[in-house]
Amino acid sequence: MLSYWEKKHFVNYDLIVVGGGIVGLSTSIQFKIKFPESKVLVLERGIFPSGASSRNAGFACFGSLTEILDDLNYMSETEVLQLVEKRYRGLLSIREFFGDERLGYLPTGGLELLTEKEMYALQSLDKINHLLDPIFNEPVFEQVVDITPFGFSNKVQAVIRNKFEGELDSGKFLLSLWEKCQELNIKILTGSKVSKIDVEKKTVFVQNPTEQENIDFYADKIAVCTNAFTNLLLPGLDIQPGRGLVMVTKPILKEIPLSGTFHFDKGYVYFRKVEDRILLGGGRNIDFEGENTLSMEVNPKIKEYLLDILHGIILRDTDIEMDLWWTGIMAFGKNKKPIVEMVGKNVGIAVRLGGMGVAIGWQTAEELVNILSEV
Ligand SMILES: Cc1cc2nc3c(=O)[nH]c(=O)nc-3n(C[C@H](O)[C@H](O)[C@H](O)COP(=O)(O)OP(=O)(O)OC[C@H]3O[C@@H](n4cnc5c(N)ncnc54)[C@H](O)[C@@H]3O)c2cc1C
Repeated sequence: MLSYWEKKHFVNYDLIVVGGGIVGLSTSIQFKIKFPESKVLVLERGIFPSGASSRNAGFACFGSLTEILDDLNYMSETEVLQLVEKRYRGLLSIREFFGDERLGYLPTGGLELLTEKEMYALQSLDKINHLLDPIFNEPVFEQVVDITPFGFSNKVQAVIRNKFEGELDSGKFLLSLWEKCQELNIKILTGSKVSKIDVEKKTVFVQNPTEQENIDFYADKIAVCTNAFTNLLLPGLDIQPGRGLVMVTKPILKEIPLSGTFHFDKGYVYFRKVEDRILLGGGRNIDFEGENTLSMEVNPKIKEYLLDILHGIILRDTDIEMDLWWTGIMAFGKNKKPIVEMVGKNVGIAVRLGGMGVAIGWQTAEELVNILSEV
């Protein structure tokens, strides 16, 4: 039951964005910049964004050497080049819009560890550098000459450096998006779970925590940015959830010689220094089936696998205590492209960001704003 005032002022908008992660917030900002007079509302089910955006590792990356080689097994060279370019330009665009300081961006470079089973990649290093030349105009990947200062176990036979990669503070990125929304007078309602969208009637139903009945919101246009959770609202899309596990250690007293973003096991495992701690995550490939879920639980098999890597390969002979473990949910499909399309005359979606939403989220939102602007 709504009051006269609530009905008059709170439920009608020009654009409603469902989902307040990187893509949803970026969509609201870019729409409002394009249409400054518009009334924009973001509806987020969690108190914070509760999918992937506040739970990721903050790698500002665009593909390691082995990931790119892997992609070339089922994509053409042109497609791979386009994918890398989109990610790299995406990172440049958020750095330009928000500034490195506000993002906590550090141009520390990326490093990939090669064990015996990935050593084949070295033979293709020049070929991949040549392929990427139109984007970077100089070699991207180079082999590190002396890897002993890292202190890795001797399972690691080579390390590849990528000087164009960086890292950011995922919390600061979201805070920057929120601050921009506030500055532009975009309304964000958190704790607002959308239970249904009526595409024809341009109506979004939100579960009201204080009463039995839903609150109906109306908008001229609706943007659905719910990534892995989209099939719960709009069934039938090619979206598979993929859970990711991350841990952070307590502060480590001795100096850790690890500067940069580190990739291991074809990018399935990643780690980096965060202040005086180590953040380590990934391992989805140990149990793809178990991780195909929307539930935020910790998979014990993967937890053990990550701990083995931490103690056995990365930080041997170091006393380490764990501080936090958490999970986030990504969205994958048959290919690595996000789905950006209209699903009704006035309803558009930008979903399935895979493991690269930090890099491509802002641009994906721009694509959605463009197609929504045409209707
Ligand atoms: C563990 C992990 C590590 C990662 N590391 C990196 C990395 O280092 N670099 C990188 O580029 N990418 C990384 N990613 C991927 C990146 O975080 C995602 O691609 C990106 O955050 C996707 O943003 P999004 O806004 O599309 O989705 P989300 O962040 O999932 O946002 C969707 C939002 O919709 C909300 N929602 C869902 N259903 C409803 C509903 N019914 N009503 C209202 N709201 C709803 C959710 O609560 C959520 O906040 C990682 C992801 C994970 C999980």
